[in-house]
Amino acid sequence: MKITEIPVAGYEKVVRCDDPESGLKALISIHDTTLGPALGGMRMWAYLSDQEALTDVNRLSKGMTYKSAVAETGLGGGKSVIVGNPKTDKSERLFRAMGRFVAAMQGRYTTAEDVGTSIEDMVIVRQETTHVTGLPRDMGSSGDPSPFTALGVFLGMKACAEHVLKTGDLKGVRVAVQGCGNVARYLVEHLHEAGAALTVTDIVPEKARLVAERYGARQVEPEAIYDVACDVYAPCALGATLNDDTVPRLKCRIVAGAANNQCLTVEHGDRLRERGIVYAPDFVINAGGIINVSVELEKNGYNEDRALAKVRNIYNAVRDILKTADAKNIATSRAAILLAEQKLEEGRKRRAAAKR
Ligand code: NAD
Repeated sequence: MKITEIPVAGYEKVVRCDDPESGLKALISIHDTTLGPALGGMRMWAYLSDQEALTDVNRLSKGMTYKSAVAETGLGGGKSVIVGNPKTDKSERLFRAMGRFVAAMQGRYTTAEDVGTSIEDMVIVRQETTHVTGLPRDMGSSGDPSPFTALGVFLGMKACAEHVLKTGDLKGVRVAVQGCGNVARYLVEHLHEAGAALTVTDIVPEKARLVAERYGARQVEPEAIYDVACDVYAPCALGATLNDDTVPRLKCRIVAGAANNQCLTVEHGDRLRERGIVYAPDFVINAGGIINVSVELEKNGYNEDRALAKVRNIYNAVRDILKTADAKNIATSRAAILLAEQKLEEGRKRRAAAKR
């Protein structure tokens, strides 16, 4: 196994692994460990170039630093990617090699499942390293993060509704949900119980049809979701769906969803604000999963009640960001970044003081 360091400005450590024996080609990016050891998922994706994989892992690991800083998980930000097709390239040898790559970081990076990987894959990784979270509950771990992410998004959406619609009661509120995957299915259940009027879509029409049937939602074509007249647009599929093409089309008053990196660029947060659309910053509203995992790493081990209590705080976190953005006259996305940077700066000062 050959591990090569890639110097990247602003990142603590970025490394590449080539292991001809197992066929593993992977990257680990540790963005910042000021607030604690880096934690972030292991993505498997058929990247078209090395540069694409590097850009993705670094973008995602920085996002994890911000997410954990605002959620006060006591963790830093990191991420890993395996270059490969999750449908055809998985093997036990591959994930065991990946486990050894994670182990080589000596605890500075802890991994978890992510897009393209599963809990079963993490169980294989666990054979080579203890630095893996989100394993099955019967292994003393925190299990599937999706219900916790969904609860946080639901509560964050309520905070937005209170801010914009002057009611946290979602009865009759029109919500358009993009993607009917793991998180969205739990989110739709909460919204249905709250009496929201739902529109759903997925690029796999069968997934949307099942959700629509179960919760009495209207189903639309994937591309039509941006044009649905609604109160809330909830992006729960992939990133970058808030871009030059979509922002002018949206007919909502709030954007609040689970997807990571929803804005293509930070300026798209400004465009939403100019349009009078209130945006719940992604890394604030979707922190439920990382909060749940962070409880697993606490001294006394995982406890669901403690995790839920912390996830419920996302309501306050979103509400505070909306208020700060209003007070400073800036986009909510910028207010969230400022808050994360402020928490990192405080952490750096604490560290420097402790060294003296
Ligand atoms: P998932 O893969 O289970 O679901 C995503 C769904 O979106 C799939 O059903 C897919 O078919 C669909 N989809 C993809 N592109 C689409 C498009 N253009 N239009 C409509 N549907 C589309 O993933 P998930 O775990 O539910 O996560 C959803 C999002 O939330 C991702 O961006 C993920 O990074 C983010 N997120 C998830 C968690 C978690 O706990 N799982 C935590 C934080 C953030």
